[in-house]
Amino acid sequence: MKLFSSKYNYSKRINSRYTLINNTLTGALDIIENDIRDLIAAKKFNSIRPNILLRLRNRGYFYSNAEKEDKILLELYNNYVKKAAGRPLRFVFCPSYQCNLRCTYCFETDLPSNPNKYMTGKILDDSIDAAEEIIKEKSGKMDSVELFGGEPLLLKNKPFVEKILEFAGKKDAPITIITNGVSAKEFIEVLLPVKNRIEMLQITIDGPREIHDKRRKYASGKGSFDQISKNIDLLLENNIRTNVRINIDNTNIEFIPDLYEYICQKNWIQYPDFSIRLAPVTDHTTLDYDNIIIPEEKLLERLIRLYDEYPVLEEIFGFYLFKPLRHILDIFNGAPNVSPRFFNCESNLLELNVFCPDGYIYACGESIGKPHLAIGRFSPKLEFYPDKKTLWTERTILNIKKCRTCRFAPICGGGCAFSSLLIYKDNSRPICERYQEVLDTFLELRGEKLFEKYMNKL
Ligand code: SF4
Ligand code: SF4
Repeated sequence: MKLFSSKYNYSKRINSRYTLINNTLTGALDIIENDIRDLIAAKKFNSIRPNILLRLRNRGYFYSNAEKEDKILLELYNNYVKKAAGRPLRFVFCPSYQCNLRCTYCFETDLPSNPNKYMTGKILDDSIDAAEEIIKEKSGKMDSVELFGGEPLLLKNKPFVEKILEFAGKKDAPITIITNGVSAKEFIEVLLPVKNRIEMLQITIDGPREIHDKRRKYASGKGSFDQISKNIDLLLENNIRTNVRINIDNTNIEFIPDLYEYICQKNWIQYPDFSIRLAPVTDHTTLDYDNIIIPEEKLLERLIRLYDEYPVLEEIFGFYLFKPLRHILDIFNGAPNVSPRFFNCESNLLELNVFCPDGYIYACGESIGKPHLAIGRFSPKLEFYPDKKTLWTERTILNIKKCRTCRFAPICGGGCAFSSLLIYKDNSRPICERYQEVLDTFLELRGEKLFEKYMNKL
């Protein structure tokens, strides 16, 4: 019998006896014996025991008809797009392009010089009216109201922030606030009335004081650590859900244990409203690496070495920060259905409407302040630019040539549209995120542990 291997098979030997095999389209993940893997590699399908071969076929690793998989992919895509039209929308308000910090790795360095530094009263009113209009026209459902910038919690923005939070209340929408946290104290009385609605107020700390202060500082050069730390105390005392994000790169990763020790001393971990996560520093303007931003698998390797030394950190932070590992972690954690990603992120589905002081609507938070990438305007009146919208919506794994033959396409989605537009001035170039290298490294260093977990579940 002639069989065709799926385009989307990934496998990695995890020890002398077993291999992990995953189909990124169907989400199947299995452990097979190395002998079977060798037979598959040699295309000796007839030598595989019939019951095992049948199971592997049923899981989508092999097909009897070469076209069948493309047909399945297309059907799944069409269903996905139909369902996506009804997904709830996110409204992101940037009351200002200004920021009170000058972080060393900030991607928004040109924003403070933008002539539209702050929203005016009219711009804010227009943004809220536009949100209402978009909700009516589109899915009718609202996922969240978010505050972003620049820095949203600047004193000058206070009445605007109040109005945006009121709007969230009126729409019964959860609130997310992305802030550097230095002025959170001045906003407490504005946040308290909506505290049950705040899903997450995210503040970044990049390490213990001496490391954080080198990276996240005021324009004067003074560090922001002490102020932020005091404000986190205050937020937690007031039961406001606070998430500390630690941006990591090659230069601060080794200080995670010191920061964790500080957090334990502060007792933040004991607060039910406190959460913490790691996030890799990214630079969407280039595909090159340097001494600060290193290839993801190298960062992963360094993190695993750290976890080996401080196992508690692995329990707390895990590996979800690495996008190439998320699907495997989800499957191991029992996710009922890991559906393929035809797009990279919610920006491709135009689920984000980012309203900015310049009156433009952006599809992605990182593209703000670049009017040539805006998908429309909300002031003086609401209008969308169909040609700009397609820059995001047409970027799918079906439209990017290299992605059509990539085994990781259903878990990657083609990479960041914003990077493709910035780097290549073209929305149809792949932005690869080193799936093979990250998965290989992870399974080399943690495959045995995963295998044990898997066997214990059987
Ligand atoms: S962007 Fe790169 S890794 Fe992602 S699907 Fe396309 S070719 Fe594959
Ligand atoms: S387009 Fe890129 S930068 Fe923008 S939200 Fe998506 S992944 Fe992030």
